[in-house]
Amino acid sequence: MQSSKRFSTSSLLFSLSTVTLLFLLGGFYAGCASFGATPEGARLERIQKSEQYGEDGFVNVHPAPESPAFLAVAWEFLTNDEPIEPEKELSIQKRSVSEFTEPPADGLRITWFGHSSILVEIDGSMILIDPVWGDRVSPVSFMGPQRFHENPLSLEELAQLPIDAVVISHDHYDHLDYPTILALKETNTRFLVPLGVGAHLERWGIEPSRIEELDWWDETRVGSIRLVATPAQHFSGRTLGDRDKTLWSSWAILGPKHRVFYSGDTGYFEAFKEIGERLGPFDVSLMAIGAYDDRWAFVHFTPEEALQAHKDVRAKKFVPVHWGTFNLAFHGWTEPAERTLETARKDSIEVWTPRPGQSVSPPMDIATSRWWETLGKLAENSEP
Ligand code: ZN
Ligand code: ZN
Repeated sequence: MQSSKRFSTSSLLFSLSTVTLLFLLGGFYAGCASFGATPEGARLERIQKSEQYGEDGFVNVHPAPESPAFLAVAWEFLTNDEPIEPEKELSIQKRSVSEFTEPPADGLRITWFGHSSILVEIDGSMILIDPVWGDRVSPVSFMGPQRFHENPLSLEELAQLPIDAVVISHDHYDHLDYPTILALKETNTRFLVPLGVGAHLERWGIEPSRIEELDWWDETRVGSIRLVATPAQHFSGRTLGDRDKTLWSSWAILGPKHRVFYSGDTGYFEAFKEIGERLGPFDVSLMAIGAYDDRWAFVHFTPEEALQAHKDVRAKKFVPVHWGTFNLAFHGWTEPAERTLETARKDSIEVWTPRPGQSVSPPMDIATSRWWETLGKLAENSEP
């Protein structure tokens, strides 16, 4: 009895440690895959010819200031008492694939799925921007910033949409998501990415023929749409060792009737005026408004800078993105939207603030509904 009990205890311990070990190995293996790959060989030779390539990686137009001290940021992480996440469930707009069968009546429909995941239906084409369906923006599934609302459309349904092209702004986890790319791999969609980012996609099994890597001001076509990779001021990397090995960009999506600008992640600099002169005006700008901080102002807009860039690119309607889904800074989770609305009102800029899952489409004007104030209950006459 005694030995039998000892045996069962030790086998339990053995099983537990085996499970733990398998879990860790699994996490490590999954982590390794989600890290992606660093450009090498012909890809590296090609990207080294880019004007944006410095001695050992891509560089911004302006020299970057020193990164903030890790310990100071860690201390703020521990002591910050801003409401960085909603207290109740968000009132998102659940969607199904059948709602996207009919093309938009006026040729343009923008659906925000949260953070920077956006579906742009424009002049007969369907473009998906920075799709992140994963639960966490992290190399592993068990730690890292977690989304605070479920995705309005399931990943299975996303993969059923007739997406003509997936457009990626840069390789950070909150823009290039391994599980989402694996799901989209099963479709026959194309991937349009800044220089070097194709190395990650190829490691994840996307055929090279489906990947196009663009330098700033390079362009390609999807149906009748011109897509131009435009400058941004940011950085890249998915591991401690691959900082700035791939390029970052904003994007101009130019149809015969409509034009949309997407900022990607960026600090404010003079390139937006040039983008406006060369490719504007735009019907809509999709501008990152969240994750700002004085210590990394160089690489992330404040809401006020996003609005200035909106004016620079000569866009009509402003749609805020890069907020409301993941907590990636220390400001309150609604502060980006509130600051955007306040400055936009003073500057008479028209802002649409869709809830996650909601579509906006000119000339429909849902304007500035503060959906974030009605947590925990979905509006009954919720808009499509
Ligand atoms: Zn980023
Ligand atoms: Zn980001």
